[in-house]
Amino acid sequence: MLGDDQRRGPRRVGRTLLAAAMILAAHGSAPADEPAAHAGLKPGSRLERRGDEIAVCGQLYHTTTPVVLWSDPGGYDAYRLEPRFKPLSDSIPPARKEDTQPALRSTFGLRRRNLSADDLERVRGGGWDLPTLRKAVDQFVIHYDVCGTSRRCFQVLHDQRNLSVHFMLDADGTIYQTLDLKEQAWHATIANARSIGIEIANMGAYPPASAQALDRWYRTTPGGDTFLTIPDAELPFLRDRDAVLRPARAARIGGNIQGQDLVQYDLTERQYQALIRLTATLCTLFPGIRCDYPKDASGKLIPVKIPNDQLDRYRGIVGHFHVQTNKTDPGPAFQWDKLVDGTKALLSGSGVTP
Ligand SMILES: [Zn+2]
Repeated sequence: MLGDDQRRGPRRVGRTLLAAAMILAAHGSAPADEPAAHAGLKPGSRLERRGDEIAVCGQLYHTTTPVVLWSDPGGYDAYRLEPRFKPLSDSIPPARKEDTQPALRSTFGLRRRNLSADDLERVRGGGWDLPTLRKAVDQFVIHYDVCGTSRRCFQVLHDQRNLSVHFMLDADGTIYQTLDLKEQAWHATIANARSIGIEIANMGAYPPASAQALDRWYRTTPGGDTFLTIPDAELPFLRDRDAVLRPARAARIGGNIQGQDLVQYDLTERQYQALIRLTATLCTLFPGIRCDYPKDASGKLIPVKIPNDQLDRYRGIVGHFHVQTNKTDPGPAFQWDKLVDGTKALLSGSGVTP
């Protein structure tokens, strides 16, 4: 229905333009009612991105390492409800009540932890800001994906398991962000409400007797060099498909996690360098995430789940195995000191106290 507002609109615009023209004619500068924050901008001009930004409460923050957002070409969009990898004709969510398909479920939720009733009313309408999100977030959960590539990881999480994670870190060091950090992703049970999660592309850890799954993904030369061999079906989707990818240490790394002896290949050096830059970004934006990992009295990594009351008090970086007894990621090869020391060095170099 056409109402007063619609009829009034053009006349009001006309008057505004006329007023602006008169002001310009009088002063030869921008209209006096142009907000100062927009001075010098042209309507329709594009905001340049550098390709290293993550999205937090709708704002973009630099990480200084390549990031693909869910809205970028080649990105992975956890806001879509339909499966990402089925044919499009099978993937349209039901639009009408009479559709017989079951409704598609969201894969993420509203963060509520430490928020007042007023906060919740504001943010449920989309009004998140960083100070409010800082009240809720104080852990960064590290996973490996047992998929080997971020594309395959998103297929399993999103299409098959109805789960979500904020970041995926591919073998070539590319970071994918699938959701704004204001969303509560579903990746680590009791830690979901307070954490940001990352799935690192890595084939995971196995008991030594059943580690042959690793043979398909790693090749060691007679000279002792080990290379990552991404399967042909996955390789075209790696962003840097020409990269020569090696685990940061050539040999399989053994260790005991959650009471199990396991072997695993290390992450690639590119993954560590990207993870360090992302962690430095997160520890800067969220001071509640201390740049440290769970340690025992002697300063060594705690290699098992942390009791719930202790986990409740812990603020910092954790492995998935610190949260759940049935998990072993990020595994015995993950270099906690490399991550934490690298992050602290980067932060101190940029003048931020970890
Ligand atoms: Zn995990």
